[in-house]
Amino acid sequence: MMPVVFAGHGSPMNAIEDNTFTRGWRDIAAMLPKPEAILCVSAHWETNGTKVCTAAKPATIHDFYGFPQALFDVRYSAEGSPLFAAQAINLLAGKAAAEPSWGLDHGAWSVLRVMYPQADIPVFQMSIDRQARPEELFELGAQIAPLRERGVLIIGSGNIVHNLGAVDFRQQGGFEWAVAFDTLIHEKIDKRDFDGIIDYTSAGKTARLSVPTAEHFNPLLYILGASHADDSITVFNDACVYGSLSMTSYVFS
Ligand code: ZN
Repeated sequence: MMPVVFAGHGSPMNAIEDNTFTRGWRDIAAMLPKPEAILCVSAHWETNGTKVCTAAKPATIHDFYGFPQALFDVRYSAEGSPLFAAQAINLLAGKAAAEPSWGLDHGAWSVLRVMYPQADIPVFQMSIDRQARPEELFELGAQIAPLRERGVLIIGSGNIVHNLGAVDFRQQGGFEWAVAFDTLIHEKIDKRDFDGIIDYTSAGKTARLSVPTAEHFNPLLYILGASHADDSITVFNDACVYGSLSMTSYVFS
């Protein structure tokens, strides 16, 4: 049974830097069983309804600007997995459509090139349905959970706290509200209070500041949905940076 992972991805620069967070990704990858394929749900692919990328050779998408050329030069050359993509579409029973033209966005490849630098494991993405409610995203995660038994590693790539408007690069850790929200989610994950996480907006101001838009939080909901009651939970990269970003990441295995 493959684990499921929520990875806080933070700045695209993590793709080419060596820091405590990238070492955390690498160490976790070394602990995981080798997957047959990887399904990534990234904050950076939102669509109306659910799409599953069926490309055999997914392109490396450079969906950012204002970064050094070295980041634009990155190519992550993993194959796609039309086979497992078709299985995911089947499991989603009419709720998902095949999308042959998407590739790998930086939410996927920035983490994967550190975790699996050899790019020898097929990767495919599933989009975030921007129209779905949190409980529906959780349910979509539950529907793809059987892929775990077939050797597919499901990775959600986002950030539990992600407020770019509030980022302060001089700030070492997190602002009080960021740490409070990150801690609240951590406690709820430890207690498996997933209903409380689905209902995160009831945390009020800390939630509004930490999740001003939901796309970076939403991958967590898929991962919680794909987790099992008897999974053990490992937290890693448990930290906030630049005031308003949380890198906190989880493995359910
Ligand atoms: Zn991002």
